[in-house]
Amino acid sequence: MKLDDVLRHRLLERERQHLLRYRQQMCGPQRPEVINQQQAMINFCSNDYLGLANHPAVIRSFQQASRNHGVGSGASHLVCGHHELHNQLEEALAAFTGYEKVLLFSSGYMANLGVINALTTKGDYILQDKLNHASLIDGGLISQAQFRRYTHADIGQLEKRLQNCSPEQHKLVVTDGVFSMDGDIAPIPELVNSVTKHDAWLMVDDAHGFGVLGATGKGIIQHFGLSPEQVPILVGTLGKAFGTYGAFVAGSKMLIEALIQFARTYIYTTALPAALAAASLTSLRLIQEESWRRSHLQQLITFFRHEVSLQGWQLLPSYTPIQPVLVGDADRCVQISHQLQKRGFWVTAIRSPTVPQGTARLRITFSAEHTMEQVEQLIDALANIKGLQEPL
Ligand SMILES: *Cc1c(COP(=O)(O)O)cnc(C)c1O
Repeated sequence: MKLDDVLRHRLLERERQHLLRYRQQMCGPQRPEVINQQQAMINFCSNDYLGLANHPAVIRSFQQASRNHGVGSGASHLVCGHHELHNQLEEALAAFTGYEKVLLFSSGYMANLGVINALTTKGDYILQDKLNHASLIDGGLISQAQFRRYTHADIGQLEKRLQNCSPEQHKLVVTDGVFSMDGDIAPIPELVNSVTKHDAWLMVDDAHGFGVLGATGKGIIQHFGLSPEQVPILVGTLGKAFGTYGAFVAGSKMLIEALIQFARTYIYTTALPAALAAASLTSLRLIQEESWRRSHLQQLITFFRHEVSLQGWQLLPSYTPIQPVLVGDADRCVQISHQLQKRGFWVTAIRSPTVPQGTARLRITFSAEHTMEQVEQLIDALANIKGLQEPL
């Protein structure tokens, strides 16, 4: 059979299920007011939670560093791509998080694939929360180790699975800190207890919590007051609250040395441009200095939840900038997203296979750069759409 014929069939099937995805072309910087398909809109689907992607100081650092150090890094870290700016960022992140060492990766996806596979091999056992990010799940799928998932946040089930392991087996338990499509926070203290009891290793991906959670933005670790010993493998990303690009792993000296030797997604890829490391250093400073960004964000979240639940929409138990509105039916969810778009609000409909079938949702995200008025306007639009009877 011709490749294109096979693909046409698969694509038609996906369209029939109302699951076809489209790219919307935006122009200009990432910020609340954007131009999407030539229409001015307020953006409620970015992960730029602290509004740093377009921050003048971050831009300036990026410009200066690229003027001084060029754009491309030229090679992987182990050849000649490891720049002093990468090193500075790693040291600054280690100092900020309180971990011994940090290693930069080119993206969160690569960090997760690389770490899981550097730490496990045939005979080992990987256990993951069912709602973990695709990059963690994929890390488990490509691993030689045995890979199983446990029901979302179900510590009882996790413990049962851990009990069934043989004592000699290495066991890696992996969870999102903040679940990316639900916005809820993993029960990390309970996970710490379980892994301690069963002699397993805990890896937490704090892509959505880092910079946002905790009094000074240290993320999930600070939120729960946990130590590096309790969460020995911490992943953070720079493309979300940092407003830049890239990712890092924090851990012991031994962990980082092992990753440099064994993480294939670290070894066999071009290093992140040094100018991005410079921009991220500035973001890190702003995360610490501008705590108003976190408090403003929290105000927006509280207000939104209060008003929208009064309207009868179904919210999920999330107190993070990820505020999904559960719709259920994929087609209906897309329709509501279009209704919002017509009113000037950009909110993505998230459907299967990103989330389980029948749990399609509007994934609304907030940024510290949103004004209270913009959130009020979104709330009004949701009330208005709720009031429409026929079209939905
Ligand atoms: C976004 C995300 C990633 C991937 O990070 P990138 O740097 O975008 O590749 C990994 N894990 C989680 C939980 C995420 O939300």
